[in-house]
Amino acid sequence: MENLYNHLYRWYAINHRILPWRETEEGYRIWLSEVILQQTRVQQGLDYYLRFVARWPHVEDLAAAAEDDVLREWQGLGYYSRARNLHKAAQMIVERGWTPFPTRFEDIRQLPGVGDYTAGAIASFAYNQPYPAMDGNVYRVVARLLDIDEPFDTTNGKKLFHKHIEKILDRENPRLFNSAIMEFGALYCTPTLGDNCLTCPLQAQCISHAHGTAELLPVRKPRPQLRDRWLDYHVYLCRRDGKLYTLLHQRTQKDIWQHLYEFVLEEHDKQPKAINPLPLSITHILSHQRLHARFCVHKVDVLPQIENTLTVEWTDIDHYALSRLTLKAIEKLGLSR
Ligand code: SF4
Repeated sequence: MENLYNHLYRWYAINHRILPWRETEEGYRIWLSEVILQQTRVQQGLDYYLRFVARWPHVEDLAAAAEDDVLREWQGLGYYSRARNLHKAAQMIVERGWTPFPTRFEDIRQLPGVGDYTAGAIASFAYNQPYPAMDGNVYRVVARLLDIDEPFDTTNGKKLFHKHIEKILDRENPRLFNSAIMEFGALYCTPTLGDNCLTCPLQAQCISHAHGTAELLPVRKPRPQLRDRWLDYHVYLCRRDGKLYTLLHQRTQKDIWQHLYEFVLEEHDKQPKAINPLPLSITHILSHQRLHARFCVHKVDVLPQIENTLTVEWTDIDHYALSRLTLKAIEKLGLSR
């Protein structure tokens, strides 16, 4: 194992990216970065991270924030349940007196939205505790190093990978080990390998390279069928006294985008008939659903009376946490905010 650590750490020392959450040992900041990075790539995540820590520098600040403000800061990242969990978790930390941030793995793991991966990442990055942090990059590197062809995204597969990583985890330096293996997966042992294996510093330790199976790994379970949904949105625009108004409604049911705002929606059970003239059509894919959305713009003199809708001045639309699909539509319709 010493050889693996030496090569990996040498590579890491030379190649790792300088990122603010790597420069801190504050559990709160590391947690924020981890939750954000589950949703987006590092570059975009960096902007969100910096905005979050500037606005809510400590967990108490986040706990005291209004949920709508947290959702708005999260806007564009999708999976709003993660933002709601972030907010709930901050409140739980304050209520339980775990400020500035819990230090025991078991306590961190109890926070809403925190699974084994995030708890392990925080415990190791913030407190150098010997817990693995298995993100997608780490699963890939471990699958290849040990030539494991079990799907990593099933319950059994996760257990198996967990056992293996426990064996190779550097218990003396868990912070360094987790950071290095994650970064190695993100930057070097990437999904598309190209010629990387030929000059790889871990080549001598890599079983899949010796077996010629690296490109085939890691294995995933077959993807579930996507459920199709047909959504017609009505974008009412009404100009009055030089101002532009529209109607928004908030999604309240237990469904995608709970609590977020969007235009007036009409959902169909099956594919509806074509509309003339053609409205803006967007296909939006979520993890289990394929949304076929159409946006019909209605320029009206008086906004219709529709239950559960709000009249919103267009220039105020940014004050509402909008679904990603709604944001996409606003952009494509060329309606500046
Ligand atoms: S030899 Fe190839 S597959 Fe193995 S760790 Fe290196 S880059 Fe990854």
